[in-house]
Amino acid sequence: MTVKIKQDHEGCIGCGACVSVCPDNWEMGDDGKSKPIETKLDDVGCNQEAADVCPVNVIEVITQ
Ligand code: SF4
Repeated sequence: MTVKIKQDHEGCIGCGACVSVCPDNWEMGDDGKSKPIETKLDDVGCNQEAADVCPVNVIEVITQ
């Protein structure tokens, strides 16, 4: 299984929720917005929780 993590980075409002629920793969950047650490993974891990908690729905988890 391959998991791709996509984020509409421009749409991120920097609330930090994804980093709180999924610090394994999300971190805050210097621009005050979050970013995924890895965008291709073997497992969904906590990234679905990150997508679910995002108030502006800019995180997409694609399983292939
Ligand atoms: S939860 Fe969404 S809006 Fe908040 S920091 Fe993460 S990607 Fe940005």
